Amino acid sequence: MLLQRSILLPLLSPWRGHSTNKALMPRLSATLLGGPRSKSSLPDVKERTLVAVKPDGVQRRLVGQIICRFEQRGFKLVGLKMLQVSEELLSQHYCQLTQKPFYPSLVQYMTSGPVVVMVWEGHNVVQASRVMVGPTNPSAAQAGTVRGDFSLHVSRNVVHASDSLEGAEREIHLWFQGKELLKWDCWDQAITCEE
Ligand code: UDP
Ligand code: MG
Repeated sequence: MLLQRSILLPLLSPWRGHSTNKALMPRLSATLLGGPRSKSSLPDVKERTLVAVKPDGVQRRLVGQIICRFEQRGFKLVGLKMLQVSEELLSQHYCQLTQKPFYPSLVQYMTSGPVVVMVWEGHNVVQASRVMVGPTNPSAAQAGTVRGDFSLHVSRNVVHASDSLEGAEREIHLWFQGKELLKWDCWDQAITCEE
C-alpha cells in the first residue's frame, strides 16, 4: 500500500494544486490507494457492450489501434482477453446466422487464429460502438470508422460490436464469466460525462 501511495500521489500533484473547477477534478478511488472501498459518488454507469478484434485484426496488429479508439472516446475497459474461439462458442454467438450461406466461411474465418474480446462500458456505448465500427460491409463504411479505415471486404471486416442492448448482454454472458469483468472507478469519469 505504501508503494502504491508513493507512486500515485506524485502523479496526482498537478491536480491537487490546480485552481480550476473542483467539480472537474478526478476523484481517487480509495480502493486504488489500498484503503477500504468507499461507495463511489460517480454515476452508476451500467451500459456495456462486447467488442472483438477478429483474427484478421489480430494478425494485422490492429489490436492497439482499435483499443485506442475506444479509450480516446472516453469508454471504460472492464474486461479483456485473447482466445482461440471454438466452433461451439461461435455457433452460440452467431446463432441467428447459422443458416446463412456464408456461415461455414464465417466459422473458418473466425477460428483461423486468436481473437481479442473486450467489454467496454459507458454512456450509450452500444450504439456509439456500432457507429465507430461502421457497417457490416466495409464497402459502405465511412473513413473514420474501424471498418472504413482498416478493411475492404465483408468476409474480413476486422471487428465485432454488439448490435443492441439485449444482444450485448447475451454476448457478454457468453464470452465472459462475471468475475472476469472488473468494477472500477475511472478518474476522468466526471469529466467525460455529466453527473
Ligand atoms: N458476414 C459475411 N458475409 C455476409 C454478411 C456477414 O461474411 O454477407 C460476416 C461478417 O464477418 C459479419 C458477421 O458475418 O461481421 C456477422 O454478420 P452481422 O450481420 O451480424 O454483421 P455485424 O453485426 O458484424 O455488422
Ligand atoms: Mg451482428
